[in-house]
Amino acid sequence: MPKFFDLYGKSRSDVKLLPVRISTAIFVMEDSHRLFLQAFMTHYVMYTKEVKEHFAMALKRFGGDYELGSFVITINENIKPLNLEIRKGISEKTGNHCYCLVNASENHGILKQSSDYTVNELEYFKKLVGEIAKSPEGSISSVDALNQVDKLENVKMSKKMAQDLIDRFQKDLWIISDVNEGHISLDTRCILELGHYLKDTYEDFIVNCEMCKQICLQGQSCGSCRAKLHHHCAARCFRNRDSPKCPASGCGAPWPYEQPERVEPSQQPTQNQGRKRRR
Ligand SMILES: [Zn+2]
Ligand SMILES: [Zn+2]
Repeated sequence: MPKFFDLYGKSRSDVKLLPVRISTAIFVMEDSHRLFLQAFMTHYVMYTKEVKEHFAMALKRFGGDYELGSFVITINENIKPLNLEIRKGISEKTGNHCYCLVNASENHGILKQSSDYTVNELEYFKKLVGEIAKSPEGSISSVDALNQVDKLENVKMSKKMAQDLIDRFQKDLWIISDVNEGHISLDTRCILELGHYLKDTYEDFIVNCEMCKQICLQGQSCGSCRAKLHHHCAARCFRNRDSPKCPASGCGAPWPYEQPERVEPSQQPTQNQGRKRRR
C-alpha cells in the first residue's frame, strides 16, 4: 500500500481509515479554508445550519469543489500542530448537531492553559466541571456552584467573584447557567473539549448515551442499569412506542420516563425533556 505524507512530513499510511473519502492525501489549506476557520475563531461553536452557510460563503468567494467533511479534515490536519481541532457534536440542550473549535491538547485543554482565565479562575472552573460530572442529573444548583469556592484549596475567592466568573464561563460557552431552573450544566464546547478528561477522571460517573454513543450528562437514566439517553435521543428512540423499554443489551426494564408527543430539535429543553413516571 502506498504511503502518504502530510504537510509536516509525517507518514500518513492511516489515510484509508479516515471516515470521509478524500481525493488527495495532501491537505492543502486554500483561502476558502482560512475564511471558514476564521468564522470558528470568532464563534467557537456553530450549529450545522451556520456551518453550511459559512462553507457555502467560503466556496462562493474563493471557488473550489469540496465536500464539507473532507474540507474540515483538511483544516484539522493543518491546525493539529497548534493543538486545535474542529469537532462535531450534539447539543444536550437542543439536540441540534454542531461543530466546535476545541483545544485538542492531551493536557486537558482549557483546564491547563487559557489566555482568558487566571490559574485560580481555572481551579474554580475545574471544581465546577467535576461537581457537574459527578451529579446524576448532569447539573448542579446555582447555590452549590457558588459554595464550591469554600472547597478550593489554596485559592481565596468570594462568592461575588464566583458569580462574575460563572457569567464569563457562560458567555464563553463553557457552561449553561439556567436562571429559571436555577442550575448550571456544561455547554457543548466544554463537553467536546474535555470529553477525554471527563471520561478519564470521572469514569465511574460518565456514561455514553445508548443511542448516539456520545457522553451523556443531562438525560434520562434507566432505573435498573447504568444506561442513559439524552432527552432528544430518548424522544427519537421511543417515538410512537406505548411501553418503552431500556435499550441497553440485557436490560429491557420499563423506561421510567414519559416522552413528549413530538419533539422538534430546536425546542428548548424545558419543552422536550421527558418527565419521570410517578411510581
Ligand atoms: Zn444521545
Ligand atoms: Zn437498563
